[in-house]
Amino acid sequence: MHQSAWESAQLQLATAVGHLGLDDGLHQLLATPRRALTVSVPLRRDDGHVEVLQGYRVQHSVTRGPAKGGIRYHPATDLDEVKALAMWMTWKCALIGVPFGGAKGGITVDPRLLSRGELERMTRRYASEILPIVGPEQDIPAPDVGTDEQTMAWFMDTFSVQRGYTVTGVVTGKPIAIGGSAGRGGATSRGVTYAAFSALREAGIDPDGATVAVQGFGKVGALAAQYLHDAGCTVVAVSDVKGGAYDPGGLDPVALIRALAEGVDSVVGSPGTDTITNSELLGLDVDVLIPAALEGVVHEDNAAAVRARIVVEGANGPLTPDADAVLAEAGVLVVPDILANAGGVAVSYFEWVQDLQAWFWSEDEVNDRLHALMDRTYAEVSALAAERAVSLRDAAHMISVGRVADAHRTRGLYP
Ligand code: NAD
Repeated sequence: MHQSAWESAQLQLATAVGHLGLDDGLHQLLATPRRALTVSVPLRRDDGHVEVLQGYRVQHSVTRGPAKGGIRYHPATDLDEVKALAMWMTWKCALIGVPFGGAKGGITVDPRLLSRGELERMTRRYASEILPIVGPEQDIPAPDVGTDEQTMAWFMDTFSVQRGYTVTGVVTGKPIAIGGSAGRGGATSRGVTYAAFSALREAGIDPDGATVAVQGFGKVGALAAQYLHDAGCTVVAVSDVKGGAYDPGGLDPVALIRALAEGVDSVVGSPGTDTITNSELLGLDVDVLIPAALEGVVHEDNAAAVRARIVVEGANGPLTPDADAVLAEAGVLVVPDILANAGGVAVSYFEWVQDLQAWFWSEDEVNDRLHALMDRTYAEVSALAAERAVSLRDAAHMISVGRVADAHRTRGLYP
């Protein structure tokens, strides 16, 4: 068995704790989620029968502010995965300096097998079940794998109906019509693009014509491919759960996105492309590899096959610690998840601020602030990595774990 997300998260934390010299008590506090709620989600299917699904909401930390993190609908989601993803959210928020702790939620379900009505009923029941622990000052969900802005709209409506008034700030990643932020839809992918450009500069590679492969053509991967293409890179391969499409001369991400919007169900078989597997994509000889699907896809058994110069983690936890060691040995520059994909939670924070103030920003304001935040954070992480002769991942965890530890020490332990 390869390292699970939870094992990976624990190992990364232990490394940071070692570098920072934190004591055992604080290590235990940081290693343990503050709250982990498991709920049953009874769902009446369209044919009338009832199925009971398992749902989760984990708040890893609320020490620096309300908990923040997405909701995942996926058949392999379980409590340990949600705990790991919640911990990574804590570090991500601390790293970019937004006043949130970390959370994550999910339902063990394959959303592709549900009708729209079933998805709505499931979402509303799940929202009702976790309602006691969420809210704009407590815990603010957002989209993740298998959920989208419609999911957030149903969640926000359910919460608001229960409260008896409209609460826009309970979720982020909402449609603009109900308090969403301009620029939120593409925020994670923009952040990935800025991180990739910073890494290309650091590696001395000309971004113009730099080759890119993207695993996962979903909310994060598709727009990252488009923005990198728009910025002059050559996107040679993309993939989804069914496989990949490869064209050494460069794909047109916009045409692929349009085809999916028009009902094509996969990037596989797009006109003018060769079909490759996801493992072939991970082994392509490219300047930048962007895993933007799920965690643990590069592990001890396939890490040596990675030939990219730079890996930018669009997904959370796509490289296990074993894979990290192999890539470090091979001299691959890895931009860690908590830095590379932080653009999503950065603009989620902007959305929450706009909702609380009922004062909305232009898309240019959002994008400019995001760009500045991503460049500033990359520079900070890269400077510490150079100073302490550690990887970007270790440096990012040292900064973020250090900030959360400071907050714990400053607040003191109750009682
Ligand atoms: P999504 O559901 O929109 O897209 C996921 C994509 O991955 C789909 O194209 C799917 O076909 C593909 N996929 C699923 N299983 C796969 C497999 N085994 N092999 C190859 N491809 C596979 O999800 P998303 O929101 O784009 O999230 C992707 C990753 O980015 C996740 O790790 C998520 O936690 C992370 N992330 C998302 C956001 C966000 O704002 N949505 C922010 C930060 C991080």
